[in-house]
Amino acid sequence: SVPLAFFSGIGAGSKRGILFKGGVAIEALEGVKAIVMDKTGTITQGNFAVQEAMPEAGMTKEQLFALAGSCEMTSTHPIANSIVTAAREENIQLKQPVSVEEISGRGIKAELEEGTALCGNRNLMEAYQVDLSGYEDTTYGTEVLLALNGVYVGRLVIADAIKKEAKSAVMQLKQMGVVTAMLTGDAERSADSVARETGIDEVHAKLLPDDKVEELKKIRTSHGSVMFVGDGINDAPVLAGADVGAAMGSGADAAIEAADVVFMTSSVAAIPQSLKIARTTAVISK
Ligand code: ADP
Ligand code: MG
Repeated sequence: SVPLAFFSGIGAGSKRGILFKGGVAIEALEGVKAIVMDKTGTITQGNFAVQEAMPEAGMTKEQLFALAGSCEMTSTHPIANSIVTAAREENIQLKQPVSVEEISGRGIKAELEEGTALCGNRNLMEAYQVDLSGYEDTTYGTEVLLALNGVYVGRLVIADAIKKEAKSAVMQLKQMGVVTAMLTGDAERSADSVARETGIDEVHAKLLPDDKVEELKKIRTSHGSVMFVGDGINDAPVLAGADVGAAMGSGADAAIEAADVVFMTSSVAAIPQSLKIARTTAVISK
């Protein structure tokens, strides 16, 4: 292959906010058979807003917001931002936790004056043996469950909008003959509704960061070489494990560092564009 051809690819990319880390990245992208995307912040905007607060076990809405807000005060996760914003809008005074532990792909465990609080998904509640009998997911949005001293005390339903160009980007990828898949730590219902709306072929939900790495390996076994696109929040290991790792938008610094391709835009349209550039460049170089 003629290395010079890669300059045209790198140039075409940079005009569209696509940064290829050298000709090697372009060559690897040309051969991918599956494009695997993270959900939160990649397919969706990552701007959550609290839709509903459902206290239980004698809690008031204010107490539920205070609990959730205190847990999330120090987290930079998009879910945390939405909860802290909602608590402030309700004029709730948030108390600094004594200590906080962020559990990747699950949520937060915090020591508060009132006791030990958990704020996160079903996976988190199960890990701490919180009794959820009779609990059922709502049909929309992402659920954030709250527990205090091991007792389930209610939930917040938060929603995140799908990026408007996602559906057409997925369609273009399919037309280019690649399989599309989505990985997420979110619950099945929420994941399925995003997949349905965008036309993504495969959905894998309820995954912890390490599960995402395993799932990616399975996708590679069934389809071949894989590109993974994520924003770097909770998905750095899978990004590093892909044949082509791509960091999207204002992704985490570590992800940008580890990535083969960086999308300087948050538009998913950059994904099919990058594949087109890679394929065109490969033709010229041969
Ligand atoms: P995705 O896999 O969709 O990109 P993440 O891996 O960032 O999402 O998070 C997976 C799931 O873990 C979220 O859907 C949420 O249920 C839970 N979670 C992660 N961080 C937090 C947090 N700070 N507060 C509450 N829940 C969280
Ligand atoms: Mg993520």
